[in-house]
Amino acid sequence: MSSTPPKLVLCVIDAMAPEMLERAIAAGAAPVLERLVSGGRYVPDCVAAFPSVTPVCAASIVTGASQDEHEIPGMNWFHREEHRYVEYGSSFRAAQRFGIARQLTDTVYNMNRAHLSQQTPTVFETLDDADVRTAGTTYLMYRGRHRHEPQRDTALTRVASALMRHSVMGPRELFYADVFASQRTGCRSGLGMPGVRDRHSGCVSAYMVEHDLFDFLLLSLPDNDWYSHKRGPEAQVHSIGQADLQLARVMNAAGGVEEFLSEHAVIAMADHSQAPVTATIALQDELADLGVLGPVRSSEGASDAEPRIAVCPSQRAAMVYALHESERDAMRASVVTRTLAIDGIDLVLWLERDAHDAPREGVIASARHGELRFAPGGAGGDVTDPRGLSWSVEGALAAIDGTIEDGRLLSPAYPDALARSWTALTCRTSGEVLLSAAPGFEFIDWGRQAHVGGGSHGSLHASDSLGALVLHGVALGGHESSQWAIRDVAPLVLRHFGLDPSR
Ligand SMILES: [Zn+2]
Repeated sequence: MSSTPPKLVLCVIDAMAPEMLERAIAAGAAPVLERLVSGGRYVPDCVAAFPSVTPVCAASIVTGASQDEHEIPGMNWFHREEHRYVEYGSSFRAAQRFGIARQLTDTVYNMNRAHLSQQTPTVFETLDDADVRTAGTTYLMYRGRHRHEPQRDTALTRVASALMRHSVMGPRELFYADVFASQRTGCRSGLGMPGVRDRHSGCVSAYMVEHDLFDFLLLSLPDNDWYSHKRGPEAQVHSIGQADLQLARVMNAAGGVEEFLSEHAVIAMADHSQAPVTATIALQDELADLGVLGPVRSSEGASDAEPRIAVCPSQRAAMVYALHESERDAMRASVVTRTLAIDGIDLVLWLERDAHDAPREGVIASARHGELRFAPGGAGGDVTDPRGLSWSVEGALAAIDGTIEDGRLLSPAYPDALARSWTALTCRTSGEVLLSAAPGFEFIDWGRQAHVGGGSHGSLHASDSLGALVLHGVALGGHESSQWAIRDVAPLVLRHFGLDPSR
């Protein structure tokens, strides 16, 4: 084995489904990814966060933490301190309901500056502190140590240029849509519209390779997710091929694939997968008589009743928050009873607390199979999960299609079910009740949009949760897991540059 290459590219191909990657390779549509798989390590079952949606997963990828620490709980969530919804862009119509300006400000600025916990440094921040030359293309998470001023001379719409006036802290080289660009590359992002974003990432990355501008690059290729939402997961064979073309473009800037790989380790990965959608759940309507807070406080609510809950759809997952602390437990019980009866809801999850309000146990309930109660077990746990964590469990293992063999808990239909559920439930910014949709179902967002006939993701189920991970030229440093997860990637990146991920 030759020594590891000095530089590292972390390429996130949004929603890349393992089976579709394999088909694209078999069809000859993804020659660069094929080269990485054949010469490296291919993991076909890298587990996403729960909810398996992009903001939560992106935060886990760049911090190596789950949301109990990084605090980004969903695509849409309720900000208790500010008493308002946060919407990161479920759809254009959903953004309109909350206000385009509000949605853009939350996504471009607040997500990194205010919502992502300061206690969980990103790989950019840690590498910047070690003087590694960092770089990033347009990605939800960009927080680093270098200041960037917005561009003044690009084709931003008037509304966007009025909003995007503030500087941000990012990696040393940052290219974010048409808003931030640390070099004059001549590359245009077309306002960051779907379908042209991969080309912008490829263009600026090729420029950076040509001019030797980074040691670590986060290369984001998001269009596969958009294409798969629209046309269904099967169509990824085409969009993974398109992503592969951009990888080839970046590598050709170094003189070719082999020349590039001699200088760069590569991690190519999905943040989550996608499953087909055939039906919707209108949770806002189903819970209307409990009193649902509408998108904008001053306008009409979602229901006639006085608002007592906030409803936060995140594609194939959703959260419900009790608005009044005094009735939190009673409201949670009402929401649990109702949601268990809704067609298309697979799992209902909540947290039981002790007399001091500390988390006591999590509950995963299914209408068909009953309740599974669980808590981190420490030394006295009953079972060990595939990642080696110990748990106490009681009740219906069938809720997660689980079995116990020789003290080991297996739940392949709901991978890493207990750790993902526990970190979601104990996240400070999560709702009181978490929901995971049944196969085929998606929660309509606040713009009443869903992806019927296409694909989506968000659930605890394997179909949304298992993404592709390819490691090429990356030293594993003894890290071997029988169940890889997206939160394993940030430590690999830090170790590549000689840093201790535990610090
Ligand atoms: Zn998506």
